[in-house]
Amino acid sequence: MTHGPNRSDMNRPAIFFDRDNTLIACDGFLGDPAQVSLISGAADAVARARQLGYATVIISNQSGVGRGLFSEDDVRAVNSRLDTLLAADNSAAVIDRHEFCPFHPEATVEAYRQESDLRKPKPGMILKAARQLGLDLTRSWMIGDAPRDIEAGNAAGCRTILFCDPAIPPSTATTQPTNVAPEFTVDSLEDAMEIIEQDGKPPKPIDPPQPSATQPTPQPITVQPIPTPPSTARLESLAEDILRELRRRTERDHSDFSVSKLMAGIVQILALAVLFYAYINRNDAALPASLLLAIMLQTLTVALLIMGRQK
Ligand SMILES: [Mg+2]
Repeated sequence: MTHGPNRSDMNRPAIFFDRDNTLIACDGFLGDPAQVSLISGAADAVARARQLGYATVIISNQSGVGRGLFSEDDVRAVNSRLDTLLAADNSAAVIDRHEFCPFHPEATVEAYRQESDLRKPKPGMILKAARQLGLDLTRSWMIGDAPRDIEAGNAAGCRTILFCDPAIPPSTATTQPTNVAPEFTVDSLEDAMEIIEQDGKPPKPIDPPQPSATQPTPQPITVQPIPTPPSTARLESLAEDILRELRRRTERDHSDFSVSKLMAGIVQILALAVLFYAYINRNDAALPASLLLAIMLQTLTVALLIMGRQK
């Protein structure tokens, strides 16, 4: 929360809600509790207002009383039904006070025929509620769908939000001329509460991040398939194959040594012995025969080695 409306050393602020076509749908005059239907987001808006520390007050012109269409008790019955529906939708959605004005300068019921300071666009209902509840109007807000709501809030020193729900056909009250502009205009009660929660600062639009020179554009992440680990049986089979191959090579190397290399070694020793004999008797007439034998034995050694390799 960016501000502290709950400070005990000063009066509470309030959010003043218009009733018809702000919290409940109403295309004219409503005196039947069974016809009460909440505007989308109404209960959540009231609950959020309370959670933010605001008193919640409904101020509503009800000239239907002065016109003889229904009684003040009918208005109270509708308000009671509204309270019930709000609580059913959100248990924190509580209205602290209902104010309504039954008077109208052209009322058909004489008792209600008068110019009243209570009737919006005059601020009488707001001022009355402020006296009763001890409210700080400079930190309070008025939310309504008609210019006279904005004028009343403005005259009382409140900040103002005009609520234009595109799903609701505008009533005659919304088309009346005015020279008072709302501070904000919204098309949902949620947006209205967002503005109030931000202490009157309009919510910032969320800009998509712009790629810059220093920050490379992130590449889309591609998911690589995870290789399936070989099963235990497969690993065992592989190990057995490796062991078999190692054993086979060992046996082959061993057989190579036992036959061919041994023979080649013996013949090589004989060849060296003949050469040694020829060297000792180098003046003997048998020298060419000795050298020839040595060459033959050496040739046999090489042949034995080649034969062993070819097995
Ligand atoms: Mg209205």
